[in-house]
Amino acid sequence: MSYPRLNSLTTSSRDTWLSAPLNQQAVTIAEGALAELGKILREAKARNIFLVVDEIAWEQSGASEVLRSELKPENIARFSNFQPNPKIEDVERGVIACREANPDAVIAFGGGTAIDLAKMIAAFSQHEAAPREVAPRGFSFPNGSLPLIAIPTTAGTGSEATHFAVVYVEGQKYSIASSCLLPGWVIIDPKLTYSVPPRMTAATGLDAFCQAIESIWSVGATEESVGYAVEAARLAKNSLAEATHRSSAPSRGAMCQAAHLAGKAINISKTTLPHAISYALTSDYGIPHGAAVAATLSCVLAFNFEVSAEDCSDPRGVEHVRRRLAMILEVLEADDAEEACQNVERLIQNLNCFPSLAAAGVVSDEQIRAIASRVNLERLANNPRRIAQDQLIALLRHSQTSPR
Ligand SMILES: [Zn+2]
Repeated sequence: MSYPRLNSLTTSSRDTWLSAPLNQQAVTIAEGALAELGKILREAKARNIFLVVDEIAWEQSGASEVLRSELKPENIARFSNFQPNPKIEDVERGVIACREANPDAVIAFGGGTAIDLAKMIAAFSQHEAAPREVAPRGFSFPNGSLPLIAIPTTAGTGSEATHFAVVYVEGQKYSIASSCLLPGWVIIDPKLTYSVPPRMTAATGLDAFCQAIESIWSVGATEESVGYAVEAARLAKNSLAEATHRSSAPSRGAMCQAAHLAGKAINISKTTLPHAISYALTSDYGIPHGAAVAATLSCVLAFNFEVSAEDCSDPRGVEHVRRRLAMILEVLEADDAEEACQNVERLIQNLNCFPSLAAAGVVSDEQIRAIASRVNLERLANNPRRIAQDQLIALLRHSQTSPR
């Protein structure tokens, strides 16, 4: 079975390769697409590769077999053994190793962590600036980045489709944004996701689903991003349970499409409240990113449905936001907010993930206040309804009593 290609692969001389226009990607989504890598590298004359690789994904996905003849060990510098959720220490280690290897290109092979790390290593290796110092305040990367090929093995964060990279410095999460962080080449091969275990399939798929829903209501959404987001949300809603519990080829293919489209959507719109809350859950409770985001999706959905002219933060007005919320009802096949919340909670529960904070083990008032204090309210301008600190605490408390 084959999947539609969103774009055809770009093949070019090395000069063109190195000066590929920013903000443009050559993307292949197809079963068996991994086999195209050798062809790309040959035509690009990229010989020496810095491979940022999740070794478990590499072994379990069967990639080593497919790429045995393409990636010669003598031309590859491997970078692995990094912690989940990108840490600044791993970026620093990677930048040093990458400079030593002096590669023609960087390949990211793995989930969101591998791809985000590869983005930062490819870009920071071209600059004197210390990642630890500049990550918290942002950096423009005037020298650009090494060419980067992203090969996601989960579906997924959609990191391959965005110009952001997340990094934790001293437990604090930062998002670095630059057009040069967008990988120039993307290979999405659903076969690579067949061996992903159910728990990880569920958590990564929920990330795609939540990103899609958040993107639809985001203040930063455009007609283009909403188009990607609605399709992504639909695909994820209809295929995630099947991909998690039965790992069928069509469901894996659909989830790969969903994750990539959700990535394209948030690349334009950015994420909103559930993501902002999730980072403390991941950092302090070790809850996988997607599962952490999903834990408050239902209560934020309920909160946003109460938007009024007084607290609407989208300059396009409350009616505009309501139209977007109506699109979410349609995607969720719900008649009203109550039913939409129930459908979201049911979906999450079916995946054996947490439909609420209580289910995730956040039960005391102290825990709620600690999480609320970690959410940067200034960063929430992207949520369609303004939220004050006391409202945030009330919302998190509400999530303790869910599911209804
Ligand atoms: Zn996410």
